[in-house]
Amino acid sequence: MNTRVHQGHLARKRFGQNFLNDQFVIDSIVSAINPLKGQAMVEIGPGLGALTEPVGERLDEMTVIELDRDLAARLQTHPFLAPKLTIYQQDAMTMDFGELSQKIGQPLRVFGNLPYNISTPLMFHLFSYTDAIADMHFMLQKEVVNRLVAGPNCKAYGRLSVMAQYYCNVIPVLEVPPTAFTPAPKVDSAVVRLVPHAVIPNPVKELRVLSRITTEAFNKRRKTIRNSLGHLFSPEVMAELGIDATLRAENISVAQYCQLANYLAEHPQQQPKES
Ligand code: SAM
Repeated sequence: MNTRVHQGHLARKRFGQNFLNDQFVIDSIVSAINPLKGQAMVEIGPGLGALTEPVGERLDEMTVIELDRDLAARLQTHPFLAPKLTIYQQDAMTMDFGELSQKIGQPLRVFGNLPYNISTPLMFHLFSYTDAIADMHFMLQKEVVNRLVAGPNCKAYGRLSVMAQYYCNVIPVLEVPPTAFTPAPKVDSAVVRLVPHAVIPNPVKELRVLSRITTEAFNKRRKTIRNSLGHLFSPEVMAELGIDATLRAENISVAQYCQLANYLAEHPQQQPKES
Protein backbone atom coordinates (compact mmCIF):
# COMPACT_ATOMS: atom_id res chain seq x y z
CA MET A 1 0.00 0.00 0.00
CA ASN A 2 1.29 3.48 -0.88
CA THR A 3 1.25 5.31 2.46
CA ARG A 4 1.62 8.67 0.70
CA VAL A 5 -1.85 8.36 -0.85
CA HIS A 6 -4.76 9.57 1.25
CA GLN A 7 -8.33 9.76 -0.09
CA GLY A 8 -6.98 9.37 -3.61
CA HIS A 9 -4.51 12.26 -3.28
CA LEU A 10 -0.74 11.69 -3.48
CA ALA A 11 0.77 13.71 -0.61
CA ARG A 12 3.23 16.37 -1.83
CA LYS A 13 6.32 16.61 0.31
CA ARG A 14 7.18 20.11 -0.88
CA PHE A 15 3.86 21.38 0.52
CA GLY A 16 4.44 19.67 3.88
CA GLN A 17 1.40 17.44 3.37
CA ASN A 18 0.68 15.11 6.29
CA PHE A 19 -3.05 14.54 6.48
CA LEU A 20 -4.85 13.87 9.76
CA ASN A 21 -6.52 10.46 9.77
CA ASP A 22 -7.39 9.95 13.46
CA GLN A 23 -10.98 10.88 14.31
CA PHE A 24 -10.30 11.12 18.06
CA VAL A 25 -7.43 13.56 17.48
CA ILE A 26 -9.51 15.54 14.96
CA ASP A 27 -12.44 15.79 17.42
CA SER A 28 -10.09 16.86 20.23
CA ILE A 29 -8.60 19.63 18.09
CA VAL A 30 -12.01 20.90 16.98
CA SER A 31 -13.25 20.92 20.61
CA ALA A 32 -10.15 22.89 21.62
CA ILE A 33 -10.78 25.40 18.82
CA ASN A 34 -14.52 25.59 19.67
CA PRO A 35 -15.68 27.37 16.50
CA LEU A 36 -19.00 29.18 16.83
CA LYS A 37 -21.44 30.47 14.21
CA GLY A 38 -20.74 34.04 13.21
CA GLN A 39 -17.01 33.90 14.04
CA ALA A 40 -14.41 34.65 11.37
CA MET A 41 -12.79 31.22 11.16
CA VAL A 42 -9.78 31.03 8.82
CA GLU A 43 -8.00 27.74 8.12
CA ILE A 44 -4.47 27.62 6.71
CA GLY A 45 -3.85 24.49 4.63
CA PRO A 46 -7.24 22.73 4.70
CA GLY A 47 -5.86 19.92 2.54
CA LEU A 48 -8.42 17.14 2.22
CA GLY A 49 -10.68 18.77 4.81
CA ALA A 50 -9.92 16.70 7.96
CA LEU A 51 -10.46 19.79 10.13
CA THR A 52 -12.42 21.85 7.59
CA GLU A 53 -15.37 19.42 7.56
CA PRO A 54 -16.05 19.26 11.32
CA VAL A 55 -15.39 23.01 11.73
CA GLY A 56 -17.48 23.84 8.64
CA GLU A 57 -20.39 21.73 9.94
CA ARG A 58 -20.73 24.16 12.83
CA LEU A 59 -20.64 27.33 10.69
CA ASP A 60 -22.45 29.07 7.85
CA GLU A 61 -19.26 30.36 6.27
CA MET A 62 -15.51 30.11 6.63
CA THR A 63 -12.30 31.09 4.86
CA VAL A 64 -9.55 28.72 3.78
CA ILE A 65 -6.10 29.36 2.33
CA GLU A 66 -4.61 26.46 0.38
CA LEU A 67 -1.52 26.61 -1.79
CA ASP A 68 -2.03 23.28 -3.59
CA ARG A 69 -4.17 23.94 -6.68
CA ASP A 70 -5.55 20.38 -6.81
CA LEU A 71 -6.64 20.45 -3.18
CA ALA A 72 -8.19 23.91 -3.55
CA ALA A 73 -10.09 22.60 -6.61
CA ARG A 74 -11.38 19.59 -4.61
CA LEU A 75 -12.74 21.95 -1.96
CA GLN A 76 -14.49 24.00 -4.62
CA THR A 77 -16.65 20.98 -5.44
CA HIS A 78 -16.96 19.58 -1.90
CA PRO A 79 -20.51 18.25 -1.37
CA PHE A 80 -21.48 20.25 1.70
CA LEU A 81 -18.55 22.62 2.33
CA ALA A 82 -18.33 24.29 -1.09
CA PRO A 83 -21.19 26.79 -0.61
CA LYS A 84 -19.81 27.86 2.79
CA LEU A 85 -16.19 28.34 1.77
CA THR A 86 -14.28 31.37 0.58
CA ILE A 87 -11.18 29.75 -0.90
CA TYR A 88 -7.90 31.59 -1.41
CA GLN A 89 -5.64 29.44 -3.56
CA GLN A 90 -2.40 31.10 -2.52
CA ASP A 91 0.62 30.97 -0.23
CA ALA A 92 -0.48 31.92 3.31
CA MET A 93 2.84 33.80 3.61
CA THR A 94 1.50 36.34 1.09
CA MET A 95 -1.89 36.76 2.76
CA ASP A 96 -2.72 40.18 4.16
CA PHE A 97 -4.57 39.07 7.30
CA GLY A 98 -5.31 42.70 8.24
CA GLU A 99 -7.16 43.23 4.99
CA LEU A 100 -8.96 39.89 5.38
CA SER A 101 -10.16 40.84 8.86
CA GLN A 102 -11.41 44.20 7.55
CA LYS A 103 -13.24 42.47 4.72
CA ILE A 104 -14.95 40.01 7.10
CA GLY A 105 -15.57 42.78 9.63
CA GLN A 106 -14.15 41.14 12.75
CA PRO A 107 -10.96 39.72 14.28
CA LEU A 108 -9.90 36.42 12.78
CA ARG A 109 -9.77 33.02 14.47
CA VAL A 110 -6.94 31.35 12.55
CA PHE A 111 -6.19 27.63 12.72
CA GLY A 112 -4.43 24.90 10.81
CA ASN A 113 -2.35 21.78 10.76
CA LEU A 114 0.55 23.75 9.37
CA PRO A 115 3.07 22.61 6.79
CA TYR A 116 6.05 22.07 9.11
CA ASN A 117 8.61 23.35 6.59
CA ILE A 118 7.22 26.90 6.81
CA SER A 119 5.56 26.95 10.24
CA THR A 120 8.05 29.33 11.93
CA PRO A 121 8.16 32.01 9.19
CA LEU A 122 4.38 31.70 8.86
CA MET A 123 3.93 32.37 12.58
CA PHE A 124 6.20 35.43 12.33
CA HIS A 125 4.08 36.61 9.38
CA LEU A 126 0.94 36.17 11.51
CA PHE A 127 2.50 37.96 14.50
CA SER A 128 2.67 41.10 12.36
CA TYR A 129 -1.17 41.01 12.19
CA THR A 130 -1.98 40.28 15.83
CA ASP A 131 -4.23 43.40 15.95
CA ALA A 132 -6.50 41.65 13.46
CA ILE A 133 -6.41 38.21 15.12
CA ALA A 134 -8.54 36.96 18.04
CA ASP A 135 -6.69 33.67 18.44
CA MET A 136 -4.72 30.96 16.62
CA HIS A 137 -4.62 27.17 16.99
CA PHE A 138 -1.84 25.35 15.20
CA MET A 139 -0.58 21.82 14.88
CA LEU A 140 3.21 22.02 14.86
CA GLN A 141 6.21 19.86 15.55
CA LYS A 142 6.15 19.13 19.29
CA GLU A 143 9.65 20.53 19.58
CA VAL A 144 8.44 23.87 18.15
CA VAL A 145 5.54 23.96 20.61
CA ASN A 146 7.99 23.29 23.45
CA ARG A 147 10.04 26.28 22.26
CA LEU A 148 6.97 28.52 21.91
CA VAL A 149 5.81 27.89 25.48
CA ALA A 150 9.21 27.74 27.24
CA GLY A 151 10.03 30.30 29.92
CA PRO A 152 13.46 31.51 31.07
CA ASN A 153 15.92 29.03 32.58
CA CYS A 154 14.67 26.28 30.28
CA LYS A 155 16.67 24.57 27.55
CA ALA A 156 13.87 25.11 25.04
CA TYR A 157 13.72 28.87 25.77
CA GLY A 158 15.01 30.81 22.79
CA ARG A 159 14.33 33.52 20.27
CA LEU A 160 11.04 31.91 19.17
CA SER A 161 9.80 31.84 22.82
CA VAL A 162 10.64 35.53 23.32
CA MET A 163 9.10 36.70 20.05
CA ALA A 164 5.92 34.58 20.41
CA GLN A 165 5.40 35.58 24.04
CA TYR A 166 6.02 39.23 23.17
CA TYR A 167 2.84 39.09 21.05
CA CYS A 168 0.79 36.28 22.55
CA ASN A 169 -0.23 34.22 25.50
CA VAL A 170 0.92 30.74 24.48
CA ILE A 171 -0.88 27.63 25.74
CA PRO A 172 -0.05 24.00 24.84
CA VAL A 173 -3.24 22.08 24.06
CA LEU A 174 -2.55 18.48 23.04
CA GLU A 175 0.19 16.12 21.87
CA VAL A 176 -0.28 14.09 18.70
CA PRO A 177 1.70 10.98 17.67
CA PRO A 178 2.97 10.41 14.10
CA THR A 179 0.39 7.62 13.60
CA ALA A 180 -2.41 10.22 13.51
CA PHE A 181 -1.23 11.33 10.06
CA THR A 182 -0.93 9.93 6.53
CA PRO A 183 1.89 9.86 5.64
CA ALA A 184 3.27 9.68 9.20
CA PRO A 185 5.81 12.45 9.89
CA LYS A 186 9.15 11.48 11.48
CA VAL A 187 8.53 13.68 14.53
CA ASP A 188 5.93 14.04 17.28
CA SER A 189 3.43 16.86 16.92
CA ALA A 190 1.44 19.06 19.25
CA VAL A 191 -1.33 21.64 19.10
CA VAL A 192 -0.81 25.08 20.57
CA ARG A 193 -3.16 28.00 21.23
CA LEU A 194 -1.78 31.52 20.72
CA VAL A 195 -3.91 34.38 22.02
CA PRO A 196 -2.62 37.85 21.09
CA HIS A 197 -2.31 40.11 24.15
CA ALA A 198 -5.08 42.75 24.22
CA VAL A 199 -2.33 45.16 25.27
CA ILE A 200 1.32 44.20 24.67
CA PRO A 201 2.75 43.96 28.23
CA ASN A 202 6.27 45.15 27.32
CA PRO A 203 5.98 47.20 24.14
CA VAL A 204 9.20 47.88 22.27
CA LYS A 205 9.91 50.97 20.21
CA GLU A 206 11.49 49.01 17.38
CA LEU A 207 10.76 45.34 16.81
CA ARG A 208 13.76 44.88 14.59
CA VAL A 209 15.96 45.82 17.56
CA LEU A 210 14.31 43.17 19.76
CA SER A 211 14.75 40.70 16.91
CA ARG A 212 18.44 41.59 16.56
CA ILE A 213 19.21 41.37 20.29
CA THR A 214 17.49 38.00 20.70
CA THR A 215 19.20 36.62 17.59
CA GLU A 216 22.63 37.71 18.82
CA ALA A 217 22.09 36.55 22.40
CA PHE A 218 20.76 33.11 21.47
CA ASN A 219 23.31 32.55 18.71
CA LYS A 220 25.81 32.44 21.56
CA ARG A 221 23.51 30.92 24.14
CA ARG A 222 26.31 29.27 26.12
CA LYS A 223 28.09 32.60 26.68
CA THR A 224 27.23 35.23 29.26
CA ILE A 225 25.36 38.24 27.88
CA ARG A 226 28.37 40.39 28.80
CA ASN A 227 30.06 38.38 26.08
CA SER A 228 27.26 37.92 23.53
CA LEU A 229 25.75 41.42 23.86
CA GLY A 230 28.85 43.28 25.05
CA HIS A 231 29.23 45.00 21.68
CA LEU A 232 25.78 46.56 22.14
CA PHE A 233 25.63 47.28 25.90
CA SER A 234 28.41 48.26 28.25
CA PRO A 235 28.55 46.56 31.69
CA GLU A 236 27.48 49.92 33.19
CA VAL A 237 24.35 50.06 31.02
CA MET A 238 23.43 46.48 31.91
CA ALA A 239 23.88 47.36 35.59
CA GLU A 240 21.80 50.52 35.15
CA LEU A 241 19.00 48.39 33.65
CA GLY A 242 19.27 45.98 36.58
CA ILE A 243 20.33 43.09 34.34
CA ASP A 244 23.06 40.77 35.60
CA ALA A 245 25.66 40.62 32.79
CA THR A 246 26.98 37.28 34.03
CA LEU A 247 23.72 35.54 33.06
CA ARG A 248 23.23 33.65 29.80
CA ALA A 249 20.66 34.29 27.06
CA GLU A 250 18.33 31.66 28.48
CA ASN A 251 18.20 33.38 31.89
CA ILE A 252 16.92 36.72 30.54
CA SER A 253 13.13 37.27 30.66
CA VAL A 254 10.98 38.60 27.80
CA ALA A 255 10.51 41.84 29.78
CA GLN A 256 14.31 42.22 30.15
CA TYR A 257 14.90 41.66 26.42
CA CYS A 258 12.30 44.36 25.76
CA GLN A 259 14.07 46.68 28.22
CA LEU A 260 17.37 46.10 26.40
CA ALA A 261 15.69 46.69 23.01
CA ASN A 262 14.19 49.97 24.17
CA TYR A 263 17.50 51.17 25.61
CA LEU A 264 19.23 50.46 22.31
CA ALA A 265 16.46 52.12 20.28
CA GLU A 266 16.77 55.23 22.47
CA HIS A 267 20.59 55.33 22.54
CA PRO A 268 21.71 54.15 19.11
CA GLN A 269 24.88 56.28 19.26
CA GLN A 270 26.07 55.17 22.68
CA GLN A 271 26.90 51.58 21.83
CA PRO A 272 30.32 50.24 22.68
CA LYS A 273 32.43 49.51 19.62
CA GLU A 274 31.28 46.62 17.33
CA SER A 275 33.19 43.47 18.18
N1 SAM B 1 -5.49 20.32 7.23
C1 SAM B 1 -5.14 19.08 6.57
C2 SAM B 1 -5.12 17.96 7.58
O1 SAM B 1 -5.02 18.27 8.78
O2 SAM B 1 -5.19 16.80 7.20
C3 SAM B 1 -3.80 19.18 5.83
C4 SAM B 1 -2.58 19.54 6.66
S1 SAM B 1 -1.04 19.42 5.83
C5 SAM B 1 0.06 19.23 7.20
C6 SAM B 1 -0.64 21.09 5.35
C7 SAM B 1 -1.54 21.72 4.30
O3 SAM B 1 -1.06 23.04 4.01
C8 SAM B 1 -1.56 20.99 2.97
O4 SAM B 1 -2.86 20.91 2.49
C9 SAM B 1 -0.68 21.87 2.06
O5 SAM B 1 -1.00 21.75 0.68
C10 SAM B 1 -0.98 23.25 2.60
N2 SAM B 1 0.09 24.24 2.38
C11 SAM B 1 1.42 24.01 2.26
N3 SAM B 1 2.08 25.16 2.14
C12 SAM B 1 1.15 26.15 2.18
C13 SAM B 1 1.22 27.56 2.11
N4 SAM B 1 2.38 28.19 1.97
N5 SAM B 1 0.07 28.28 2.16
C14 SAM B 1 -1.13 27.64 2.31
N6 SAM B 1 -1.26 26.31 2.41
C15 SAM B 1 -0.14 25.57 2.33
